[in-house]
Amino acid sequence: MSGGGWCGRGDRPRTFPKRKPVICYDSPAAASVSHALYDDLRHRALLGETILKLEVPKKSARTWEMKKGDLCRITVTQGSQVGDVNFWNLQNRNERFYSGKTRQLHSTHLTVYDRLWSCLPYLRPMATVVADSLKKYGIDEDGASIHDVIGTRCDDYTYKLITGKDRSGSCHTYLTEAVKKLGMSETDVHDVWNIFMCTGFSKDTHKYFVKASPAVKGDYIEFIADMDLLVAMSTCPQGDVSIPVGQEVPDDKCHPLGVEVFRASDEN
Ligand SMILES: [Zn+2]
Repeated sequence: MSGGGWCGRGDRPRTFPKRKPVICYDSPAAASVSHALYDDLRHRALLGETILKLEVPKKSARTWEMKKGDLCRITVTQGSQVGDVNFWNLQNRNERFYSGKTRQLHSTHLTVYDRLWSCLPYLRPMATVVADSLKKYGIDEDGASIHDVIGTRCDDYTYKLITGKDRSGSCHTYLTEAVKKLGMSETDVHDVWNIFMCTGFSKDTHKYFVKASPAVKGDYIEFIADMDLLVAMSTCPQGDVSIPVGQEVPDDKCHPLGVEVFRASDEN
């Protein structure tokens, strides 16, 4: 509506009362972990055994298992790189990560002591973040932050929608290929936790935006399994996600990520 009164065409002018935002969900007790307990679990795991060490090569995905209490550290081993992570209950693959509810219970971006929740009807903590070398990034002047649960995984279907071109090579494809080796299928792949990814919503239109990930070699994030888990992670073919989906990404923008799993020994 531009200038003047309503002339009978278009929408009648309307004003809305101003109301204060209300945080939608009261934080449940289960969403607030004891920092001392999880710090202790972290130290005990790190002092224990390294039970797994693997590299997820660039533009690919790998799976691994964790027992309840194990700690997983994911590290930027070469250049800045985003990882897309899926979780399933190891004993029941129907129970899987629910990024939307995790966002509602915590925030658009996860950091230390936030938890990753499973889908309905289970709604249980699957893992708890215990260390994040990028924690100090916080929320920047554009409202962006890191380790996103807003976005989904990149996929070839949306790529075709945007570009009209067929392609095989996206986080969705890589995750699908990785879980097929375990007898699972494309429909088991679900919305991800985007680690090291820097995102937000634009202030004017609330469109989803990305910024080049500030993660550099040596940055890491750690989580503790709150149940026995199957984990899958892809190394995004968007690399640090500084180039919009639909545009060509140079190969040298893409890097591997390192995965380590630590288990507390009985003595410590
Ligand atoms: Zn991706």
